Amino acid sequence: MGLDTIAAISTPIGEGAIGIVRLSGPRALEIAQMVYKGADLFKVKSHTIHYGKVIDPETNELVDEVMTTVMLAPRTYTREDVVEINCHGGIVAVNRVLELLLANGARIAEPGEFTKRAFLNGRIDLSQAEGVMDLIRAKTDKAMSVAVKQVDGRLSTLIQRLRNELIETVAHVEVNIDYPEYDDVEEMTHDLMNTKTKEVHQEIVRLLQVARQGRILREGIKTGIIGRPNVGKSSLMNTLVQETKAIVTEIPGTTRDTIEEYVNVRGVPLQLIDTAGIRETEDIVERIGVERSHQVLKESDLLLFVLNYNEPLTEDDKKLFEAVKDLQAVIILNKTDLPKKINMKEVEQLSMGRPIIPMSILEDEGIDELENAIAKLFYAGEVDSGDFTYVSNARHIQLLKEAKRHLEDAMEALEMNIPIDIVQIDITRTWELLGEIIGDTASEALIDQLFSQFCLGK
Ligand code: GDP
Repeated sequence: MGLDTIAAISTPIGEGAIGIVRLSGPRALEIAQMVYKGADLFKVKSHTIHYGKVIDPETNELVDEVMTTVMLAPRTYTREDVVEINCHGGIVAVNRVLELLLANGARIAEPGEFTKRAFLNGRIDLSQAEGVMDLIRAKTDKAMSVAVKQVDGRLSTLIQRLRNELIETVAHVEVNIDYPEYDDVEEMTHDLMNTKTKEVHQEIVRLLQVARQGRILREGIKTGIIGRPNVGKSSLMNTLVQETKAIVTEIPGTTRDTIEEYVNVRGVPLQLIDTAGIRETEDIVERIGVERSHQVLKESDLLLFVLNYNEPLTEDDKKLFEAVKDLQAVIILNKTDLPKKINMKEVEQLSMGRPIIPMSILEDEGIDELENAIAKLFYAGEVDSGDFTYVSNARHIQLLKEAKRHLEDAMEALEMNIPIDIVQIDITRTWELLGEIIGDTASEALIDQLFSQFCLGK
């Protein structure tokens, strides 16, 4: 690709033993050589590392002692020539080296540009590239491991397998239509088509079922803390932020990202919704009525509903129970350090099987139980196995839903005995939609694949 050569610091900003400046593009070696004195980078073997010095060509000043790695296209991350300069002198040296490279013909890389090039140059597919982005943004270890698997191509492999099943099905039909004299090709019966369609449909349904978990891992469980005034909502919020690992995300270089507060509960990121606005209104009845509180209820994936252990349930509590009756919630009985005045029977009835956690935030009791309850809700009935393929990307979920719809149309058509070449339109569309997930849509590809698989020219 006739692109310019890009450069960026590819290690995290901050003090570290080594900082790496990465160059990628057609002039990577040439630009590196202008500032690096040591081995002749044009003569060294690919994928080798060399000691040397970075010297400012204008002032002849020594900037840092470095190790320089040369990796020649195409066996590199971007499939272009890549040079990595490992600096030892901390952040200042790394920045100086980057500046020198920019002054000598490199352009500063946009966020994600190395990965974008890897995609454009065909080294990774779209879902893998998206995985890299997720990896960078991962908020917990679990989110990270989902992203790692996506980069590693597990989702792509699964999607490819489903596409292959569809394409083979379509191919059989094509062959029957276009080359009826090929009687060695298996007759595509309605039944066979039906079986295949159902198989793929089932897998997509399964992927979509766990997609919610995937999205949550990626974005956090939107969590609202509700309850009457003075039951301990602010105290709970503070405790969660202090006790768990609070994560404030701010992605360097992307100003559009607002800073959000996440707390990490057993690997599940909770995104705490700011309910401050609701708390201001003292009158609970009015509070439930206001648009804003409904909004919080609607937006939340999870509600932490706080009650006072030391008081009988009030009308306001009951109204709140009514408002959240269909929502996922953990009921918290706070202030167990004080005498019990709440009626447990009543609470149990209104909680309708949802977890009830007695707590004393003041005395630091019950936090573990609350965390367990949240983690259990999240993983309820789901495999928390490291081996699971999660779909978490909104684009992927959208495409999967559309694919599912087309498969359902196909299944219905088959049921109604509609001719197979018409059913096939839906199957082909499904194949295309799945292809969009991995960034491969051209319908010419359909033709190519058909013929490559079926050697009709023999
Ligand atoms: P909010 O209005 O629901 O946000 O309630 P706050 O978090 O502001 O708490 C109201 C009052 O209850 C404060 O004086 C807290 O110190 C107190 N409080 C919070 N948790 C506990 C608890 O577990 N036990 C006792 N005894 N008091 C608590």
